[in-house]
Amino acid sequence: MKKIKIYDSTLRDGAQAQGISFTVEDKMKIVKKLDKLGIDYIEAGNPGSNPKDLEFFESVKSYEFKTSKLIAFGSTRRANIQVEDDKNIQSLLSVDTSAIAIFGKSWDFHVIEILKTTLEENLKMIFDTVEYFKKKNKEVVFDAEHFFDGYKENAEYAMKSLKAAVDAGANSICLCDTNGGTFPTDIFNITKKVLDEFGVEVGIHCHNDTGMAVANSIMSVEAGATQVQGTLNGIGERCGNANLCTIIPNLQLKLGCELIPKESIERLTSVAIYISEISNIIHDDRAPYVGRFAFAHKAGMHADAVNKNTNAYEHVSPEKVGNERQFLMSEVAGRSAVLGMINKIDSSIKKDSPETQMVIAKLKELEYDGYQYEAAESSFEIVIRKILGKYEPLFYLENFKVIVNEPTLNGENSSALIKVKVGDSYEITAAEGDGPVNALDKAFRKALEKFYPEIKEMKLMDFKVRVLDSESATAAKVRVLIESTDGEDIWTTIGVSTDIIDASWKALVDSIEYKLIKDKK
Ligand SMILES: [Zn+2]
Repeated sequence: MKKIKIYDSTLRDGAQAQGISFTVEDKMKIVKKLDKLGIDYIEAGNPGSNPKDLEFFESVKSYEFKTSKLIAFGSTRRANIQVEDDKNIQSLLSVDTSAIAIFGKSWDFHVIEILKTTLEENLKMIFDTVEYFKKKNKEVVFDAEHFFDGYKENAEYAMKSLKAAVDAGANSICLCDTNGGTFPTDIFNITKKVLDEFGVEVGIHCHNDTGMAVANSIMSVEAGATQVQGTLNGIGERCGNANLCTIIPNLQLKLGCELIPKESIERLTSVAIYISEISNIIHDDRAPYVGRFAFAHKAGMHADAVNKNTNAYEHVSPEKVGNERQFLMSEVAGRSAVLGMINKIDSSIKKDSPETQMVIAKLKELEYDGYQYEAAESSFEIVIRKILGKYEPLFYLENFKVIVNEPTLNGENSSALIKVKVGDSYEITAAEGDGPVNALDKAFRKALEKFYPEIKEMKLMDFKVRVLDSESATAAKVRVLIESTDGEDIWTTIGVSTDIIDASWKALVDSIEYKLIKDKK
């Protein structure tokens, strides 16, 4: 089996993405996740670039890595000075990592137009910097910036830039498609040329500007590269970086390469969700392997076929990446889809069992009332549990009251008061919130946290309201969809009512019940 080293750049390149800003604590959480996953290298930014990065390097010192190597990232020395006089080089050294990534120019156009120095001086800058860190006993990765664009315009110079790094003792050279515009066949051919020329480890670093970062990374591996750089969920500036959550299963499950332990890849989906969560971005439902819909079957015939044999419409089984097969619930999905869902709770029930009939009848009734379970499977699971007698109420609502204050003076314009009963105890709580639903959610959770502390882990991610029959004006029904997460899973619940607070309340109750049932399992 071919060993491929994974080099994660989420903390550095990923942090360049629009709308993403990691705190020092966020970075620490990500580092721990990556280390546990078995990622080979974690690139942690440039200590010289800002105080936040420096603070991170300080706090990471106390963490003991199990598998990963932390990498400090910086550029070659500036033109026309001695390497030891360069402040950035000294700050790279000061953070005391065993490995360092140095990026340098490979494209003659960039050397002349952007760096404004001579081609010869740039080669010396690469050589001097790599040599300096090698003498300090560091493992050095040389990132050849704009390598593919440079190669296409001036192959001889691009190769000379690599040679400068190799001659100075670089442990690996990484070919970067910095602008993300190179096509897979060019990536393959150029990687091969580099491997023919140099006997060192070759890496690949792709950006996704043509939508081919994953394909390009894989082509490079097929040509012989053994180090792949990328970010989790593909986050990064512009269109993002090569997505490691796609590359890892592709290489490991499809091409038989060895990347991370089997137990780790089986946790990939929850890690991907966790990273979206920390990055404060909505997790992509359609992401290959780790998206919520990656193994969701809707049309009746597809669902039926998958139930008979999972290979029918699945390229790989969801358990291998820690994801789940889903049959999207709706009348059209048919009996098989419903059965698939029932069997998750009770595997003894058959297609023609009376319970299946009852569930289908209930589904029709609820769909008629405006419920739609395709996007709210978690609520449907609770419906099935109730029919099968596998449901135990975990709390009772006595009553609630919501007050909306107008005009809005600050974000918290509403307050809610709630009384719940758990076992023989009553709990009354109040909370303020941004809108009545937010206030109700906060008060509700506060009341239940005392009995079920695991509720603290969960939070609402998304809240969608849809008016169903708009002809009937104010008596129109609304459908509320609530998406929740506990950092491990994402689930969606639904509520329908003529009253928006009531519809939201139903979805909230399902959301919390689902979490409690899930944790019990
Ligand atoms: Zn990059």
